[in-house]
Amino acid sequence: MAEGDKIAGPINALLNSFELVVATRDWHPPDHGSFEGVDVDPKKWRGADPPSIWPVHCVQGTPGAELYPALEQAKVDVVIDKGQDPNSQGYSGFQDTRLGDLLRDRRVDRLFVTGLATDYCVKNTVLDARRLGFGVTVLEDAVRGVDVRPGDSDRALEEMERAGAAVSSSKEILKAKTPA
Ligand SMILES: [Zn+2]
Repeated sequence: MAEGDKIAGPINALLNSFELVVATRDWHPPDHGSFEGVDVDPKKWRGADPPSIWPVHCVQGTPGAELYPALEQAKVDVVIDKGQDPNSQGYSGFQDTRLGDLLRDRRVDRLFVTGLATDYCVKNTVLDARRLGFGVTVLEDAVRGVDVRPGDSDRALEEMERAGAAVSSSKEILKAKTPA
């Protein structure tokens, strides 16, 4: 995806400003149904997007599934693996993971969301977070989209806002968090 690496800087700049930093990562089995060339039983497939639409990516236990090296991983408190069900895209960080329980246990009321991709995993994670009752702020300089159709990322941000998410930027957050 274009400029996906550009978000590491803004994310790193934010890491000291939050009590809990959670990273989600795709952790797909090698035969994951989202991958091109993988045969999927349509009766078993769950989810809105069709199967077999993405290049092979983020296969469990391979370097492609690791967190991006430029990210300051020592400041990540918890890593959540997602997308392990071969019969679902697994876009949302909440889908079939312990993320919801973790955030409730830690009494989190607002999430500040960064990452890839705006129009798929970020969008679905944010919409699930809203359904679960969390406040959400999306940091638009710390997300990037695929934009299969031009404008997909902008439309995704609008959809997140309609669901009650706020849109801000890493600079705004850092300004607000720095004591005057
Ligand atoms: Zn994936």
